[in-house]
Amino acid sequence: MDIVKHNMGWIEVIVGPMFSGKSEELIRRLRRAEIARQRVQIFKPAIDERYSATEIVSHSGLGIRSDNISKASEILEKIDPRTEVIGIDEGQFLGEPLVEEATKLANMGKRVIIAGLDTDYLGRPFVPMPTLLAIAEEITKLLAICMRCGNPAVHTQRLVASEDLIVVGAGGMYEARCRRCFDANLAHEKSMQSESKQTPAQRLAARSTGS
Ligand code: ADP
Ligand code: ZN
Repeated sequence: MDIVKHNMGWIEVIVGPMFSGKSEELIRRLRRAEIARQRVQIFKPAIDERYSATEIVSHSGLGIRSDNISKASEILEKIDPRTEVIGIDEGQFLGEPLVEEATKLANMGKRVIIAGLDTDYLGRPFVPMPTLLAIAEEITKLLAICMRCGNPAVHTQRLVASEDLIVVGAGGMYEARCRRCFDANLAHEKSMQSESKQTPAQRLAARSTGS
């Protein structure tokens, strides 16, 4: 995006599995915009409070202040008309409405940068990231390092027993895996095994705590 004239807005999307450096890359772009004295606003869904309620923090410890939102439409409500650059982390938690909101913001002349997981714990495309990839001006796909074999990793492997789409987890619940080492059945098999040994009440309790 070297030559952009007349305050034209656009959408940049950063995708990849967990640990691929999406937050680091988002923070890097936002810091550079701040160094260029542009007005920046940063949002993340409130669901991801792993590290901080008021900051995006990467797995390597880089941080940048951010506003929590519970749905995509809050971005437009909270936006200052003078804001030039909008950063959004964990876009996969904001659902399909994020597509329309990002489009509106870009059409208003804003540079919109969205980071998020492009696939879920089963390796399926994670709404709304595939649509955002299709409508973006610029896309970046990052890879992590497979924790099994050291190859480039495209997948987020869930290590705990759960079949819920969203299980927000810190250390130990997920790891990066390459195509060969990724096992989509692991979460499923594990929950089948552990559930078969539980009473129905234990099963319900385990589900409501997200374990
Ligand atoms: P994401 O937002 O994609 O989850 P982050 O930007 O939060 O990624 O973290 C990236 C950092 O995570 C890397 O710079 C590295 O320090 C660390 N890291 C931990 N595990 C891995 C891994 N398996 N592959 C690559 N980086 C890893
Ligand atoms: Zn591997």
